[in-house]
Amino acid sequence: MASSSYSNSPCAACKLLRRKCMPGCIFAPYFPPEEPQKFINVHKIFGASNVSKLLNEILPHQREDAVNSLAYEAEARMKDPVYGCVGAISVLQRQVLRLQKELDATNADLIRFTCNDMSSSLSGPGSSQFGRRMSHGGGGGGASFNQNSGLPPPYPSPWDNNPSGDSHES
Ligand SMILES: [Zn+2]
Repeated sequence: MASSSYSNSPCAACKLLRRKCMPGCIFAPYFPPEEPQKFINVHKIFGASNVSKLLNEILPHQREDAVNSLAYEAEARMKDPVYGCVGAISVLQRQVLRLQKELDATNADLIRFTCNDMSSSLSGPGSSQFGRRMSHGGGGGGASFNQNSGLPPPYPSPWDNNPSGDSHES
């Protein structure tokens, strides 16, 4: 039996679940035998029966994306049992917030420097309403300076030390 099924090895799911991989197996297209860990993670976090139920409920052309997102979520949950991929989302959201503030502050600097240049090269500071307004502390943009000294991370997260991800010094 084992030698006859050599060319038709069971998918990773059926292999793990120790069952016969039938021709119409719902898992087979998405869990090839060469990637056993993918199903191990998904099965551990979501359970094989939930996964097969989900795959049967959605359209065939959406199944690969669904499996890939389940695999991503499962791997994230294994890595970070408390937050799962929410941990990654949270870190990235904070990063976006921090970078947005940095950008706002830099833009405010840029406007202030430009206006200082303009008002000094013009006939007088009073003649330019724009320059006069900006020289009084940069308006609303200056507020972001106070909060720009670095947000503390929400919790010690495994998502922060990702060597393969985006490098901070590029
Ligand atoms: Zn199978």
